[in-house]
Order: sequence, then C-alpha cells, then structure tokens
Amino acid sequence: MEKLLQVNNLKKYFDLGHGEILKAVDGVTFHINKGETFGIVGESGCGKSTAGRTIIGLYDRTDGEVLFNGKNIHNLKSRERFAFHRQIQMIFQDPYASLNPRSTVSEIISEPMEVHGLYPNKKDRLKRVYQLLEDVGLNKDHANRYPHEFSGGQRQRIGIARALALDPEFIIADEPISALDVSIQAQVVNLLKRLQMEKGLTYLFIAHDLSMVKQISDRIGVMYLGQLVELTTSNELYKKPLHPYTQALLSAIPIPDPDIEDRRERIILKGELPSPINPPSGCVFRTRCPMAMDICSAEKPKWQEMDANHFVACHLYDKNRTGGQDYSQVAA
Ligand code: SF4
Ligand code: MG
Repeated sequence: MEKLLQVNNLKKYFDLGHGEILKAVDGVTFHINKGETFGIVGESGCGKSTAGRTIIGLYDRTDGEVLFNGKNIHNLKSRERFAFHRQIQMIFQDPYASLNPRSTVSEIISEPMEVHGLYPNKKDRLKRVYQLLEDVGLNKDHANRYPHEFSGGQRQRIGIARALALDPEFIIADEPISALDVSIQAQVVNLLKRLQMEKGLTYLFIAHDLSMVKQISDRIGVMYLGQLVELTTSNELYKKPLHPYTQALLSAIPIPDPDIEDRRERIILKGELPSPINPPSGCVFRTRCPMAMDICSAEKPKWQEMDANHFVACHLYDKNRTGGQDYSQVAA
C-alpha cells in the first residue's frame, strides 16, 4: 500500500503566557495509506482537532514533521505550498459557522476555484458548481440560495461540495457529523463513503464517537491528552481493544455483534480529563485508569507493536516486566 501521509512525532504546544504551556498535541506518529480512511477518536479536548489543523497547516507545528506524498510539507516553496493546499481540504464540524451567510451556495463553492485559478471561464465554473452539487445529493436549483435556507445536513453537503471543488486527494473531516441529527448522520457518512469510492479520496476522520468511526474507518488511532494510546485496524480495535482507555470508550457503546456481545461490562472512568497544561507524569491516562500500577506514574509506557499493525502504549503489555499480563487474556 502506498502512503499518502506520514506524521512523525508531531507536537503542537500553545504558549499561554505566565510560563504555562498547553501541550495540545504531544508527539503523535501515524501514517495514512492512499484511498484509506484513518479515524482519530478521543474525548473533546484530547487534541484531535488541533492535530488535524496542524497537519493541514492552519497551525504551525511546534516539533515533528508531516510528509505528504513523500514530501516534507514544512519545506515546500511557495508554489509547491499552493499546490499542496489544493490537494488537502478540510470539512468542519459546524456547517453553520463554516459557511459565509452572505454568500450564495454557488459563490461558496466557487471561491476556492477562483483562489486557485481553476475554471477561469465563468460558465465552466458554474457548470462545475452544478456538478459538485449533484455529487453531494443537491441540485442546480440550490445554487442561488443562501446557507440559512438549508437544513444542517444540507449545509454539511454544501461544505463537502466546497471541499471537493479543487479535486483534492486528501480530506480532513473534523467531526463532520457530530452537529447533525442522528437520523442525518448516517446519510452524510454514506455520502462520504460514496465520494471516496468515486473520487479515490483519502480521509482523516476525526470523531469523539467510536460507533460512527468504526463504520467509516479502515484503521483507528485512539487519542488521549495529546497522545496516541492505541492504533490498529477498525475490526481489531473492536474485537480486541488493548488499552484500558479504548476498553472504556468501547464499553460505552452497544455492540450488535454476537461474537463480542456480553463480554463487556460498562467501564465508568473516574474523574475528568486532566489539564494538558499539567499532564500526569508517566502514563497520561493513569489518573483515570482502573488498572494503574506503580510503574505507571514513574515511566511513560512505550509505543509497542503487539500484533501485526496493532500498537499500544501501556505498561500492562511490557513483555519483560515481571508479573506482566498476557495481553490476549486482558483483552478478552
Ligand atoms: Fe493504565 Fe498503566 Fe496502562 Fe497507563 S500504563 S493505561 S495507567 S495500566
Ligand atoms: Mg474538536
């Protein structure tokens, strides 16, 4: 499989003044293959949106690197940077806030094309707008209307059409369905899946809800307090979650799969997500972990590959630790 995106030890810190540093993203490493959907899941405040925004260049990184099609995006010359920005687009969580209320749908979708000098002929551009509207399940009669005339689901479709206007390779979808009614969520997910097949898109799909992420993602990274704690295929994560945090997240959603049903008890996490200004020493999850041991406050757990393509950062799986657990038992 060919890699489209490689993220290496990415960090994004915000200096809050008074010597306070907020470590929103603190050393995240993963890759995304061409044509794949990679999901990032975690509670709000875990840094997943910041990671997405740093990858696309809306924020400057503090450290680490992002390679796109093998090229380090931080070293791009201005022309290459312009081309890169055409290849990578974002769909935002809030379709209400992300569309200019004073622009017509046609103007909203045309804008990126104008910026990038695509379809300079107005007639061609309009034809392209109509095509994009059809691609997302709307039609040309919607072109001259304003965002407030549409439902939330339709507005998100407009946001998707705008993201597609430049024919990108890669789309970062930051909680694209969490602001929508549950009845509409599946429709938008299905639309994203169809567009991926038709246009060969690659997605980074950011969400706090594991149930939706499973449906759309090939692989999933679980994020907690600025760090990835587990990463594997969508199926493996659901069948055999290793990290106590993943196990807790999964226990909160009903699983209609008879193979895995009944083995899970609801795990209620104690306490709140700690502040990323003062993260816990050792394992960042230890203040809420039902399995925490002495070593968890002293040492940061290593990122280790347990099975092929199944990574976890947790001392329960330290192979050489005496008294260490057999992870297959823990997982069951
Ligand atoms: Fe829990 Fe320790 Fe594993 Fe962290 S390293 S998740 S505290 S058992
Ligand atoms: Mg967010």
